[in-house]
Amino acid sequence: MSEKYDVVVIGSGPAGYVAAIRAAQLGLKTACIEKWKNDKGDGVNGGTCLNVGCIPSKALLDSSYKYHEAKEDLAVHGIKAGSVTIDVAAMLERKNKIINQLTGGIAGLFKANGVTALYGSGKLLAGKKVELTDHDGVVTTLDADNVILASGSSPIAIPVAPVDGELILDSTGALEIGSVPKRLGVIGAGVIGLELGSVWNRMGSEVVLLEAMQDFLAIMDKAIAKETKKILTKQGLDIRLGARVTATQINGKKVEVTYQSSDGSEHKETFDKLIVCVGRRAYTDGLLADDSGVQLDERGTVYVDEQCATNAPGVYAIGDIVRGPMLAHKGSEEGVMVAEIIAGHKAQMNYDIVPNVIYTHPEVASVGLSEEEVKAAGEPYNVGVFPFAASGRAMAANDTDGMVKIIAHADTDRILGCHIVGPSAADLVQQVAIAMEFGSSAEDLGMTVFGHPTLSEAVHEAALAVNGGAIHIANRKRR
Ligand code: FAD
Ligand code: AMP
Repeated sequence: MSEKYDVVVIGSGPAGYVAAIRAAQLGLKTACIEKWKNDKGDGVNGGTCLNVGCIPSKALLDSSYKYHEAKEDLAVHGIKAGSVTIDVAAMLERKNKIINQLTGGIAGLFKANGVTALYGSGKLLAGKKVELTDHDGVVTTLDADNVILASGSSPIAIPVAPVDGELILDSTGALEIGSVPKRLGVIGAGVIGLELGSVWNRMGSEVVLLEAMQDFLAIMDKAIAKETKKILTKQGLDIRLGARVTATQINGKKVEVTYQSSDGSEHKETFDKLIVCVGRRAYTDGLLADDSGVQLDERGTVYVDEQCATNAPGVYAIGDIVRGPMLAHKGSEEGVMVAEIIAGHKAQMNYDIVPNVIYTHPEVASVGLSEEEVKAAGEPYNVGVFPFAASGRAMAANDTDGMVKIIAHADTDRILGCHIVGPSAADLVQQVAIAMEFGSSAEDLGMTVFGHPTLSEAVHEAALAVNGGAIHIANRKRR
């Protein structure tokens, strides 16, 4: 007889493992199937986020930033550090240690919450049955009252730049480069391309980003995107827009890249390594039997409604395999929502307030609507901006690039969006996300007492500036 569960989750990335833990906390008998293996062949939880995504990229970003700081930024504080060198192997080892600690932590959390961790491939069959093929090829079938699909995403491959794991890498390979490439090419100047490009730029590579689109960070608030491009270019990232890669050629130990500019002219560049960062696609390979009843949409993502229910009754899908931004926290919140719905609670997620961060230095972070989106919606609005150059805390830290921008409705003063490029932007934008969640006006935020001196004061001042009341900067005329 097959084992029966209230909930079977397929995939243990930040969407799946959070769903499994929440379901178990709510008293549901829960199993979570994961097919990822580490290099020792052991099953590991955590998905893209912990193994090859958010966490390892941040580990390398932090290490490379410290190296850069030690080399370039200490002198201004009067610190002489002598010659600073980097041990790339030690840096990668530190990253791997963090991965092991965190993925092991998920196994511990499963145990503590009573989630049954199963290792192998899960496939949804008809009638909410799940076929599990373990790493030894043994097949069993699980019966479930509810199934949550959370199989995540994988890097998009482009035929013009086939990943060989040697000279041409995807984002996963880019986290394992063992020595600093002299010249590094990056296809795609999106979030992942900018983060990985920054890591190696700080380490001394000459980094060229080739981006097909004419607009830089096209979906972001335009003023923030423009400021970001200026700052990153000043740091040495060579960002070429309207540059579509059309061919690559391996020549010995080098890779030659051909790209076309928007004026139609053709160009060639030679690199020691090339990273392909042209986005990610929903990963559903082997996930669904033909008669599972779950439908995909035209982009290959699993079709779901607002509450992540698929077409098949009792089957839900969350995280990168469904619509919406491919962000770990978006998937986790969907996981909590679905677990609560299954447990009979009322639950919904606010898709309008999902923060988005690029972990360059300075960080770029946003929540809510951009000025362009508000304008396109025809809503009247006011904007408040505060530059970090006017922040005492930023000055003390010698970290004054960037600004905070807050957009509020002109009639209600309700905050519609916040966009920041600057030090600790990820944490600062979260403050505004919380305010927005509580329906705050710019005036509410302006009336809140902020500690001094903090970077947060830049948020406070931007909120005050919305209605012309900033203290530490000349106010723009109100619209
Ligand atoms: P995943 O994390 O992809 O997990 C899915 C899991 O399902 C995998 O472990 C997979 O092995 C397993 N699986 C798939 N099919 C099956 C099957 N049939 N049976 C069993 N198991 C299966 N997001 C952020 O929010 N912040 C960041 O800073 C950030 N940085 C990133 C940096 C990089 C380099 C990359 C690549 C991504 C980054 N992301 C970031 C995106 C983030 O990693 C994803 O949005 C997130 O991991 C998606 O979570 P998920 O649970 O939907 O899928
Ligand atoms: P993101 O979706 O944020 O990961 O960004 C991926 C980026 O890669 C997008 O901005 C795309 O425009 C870009 N891109 C996709 N294909 C190509 C290509 N052939 N050459 C250059 N850039 C590309």
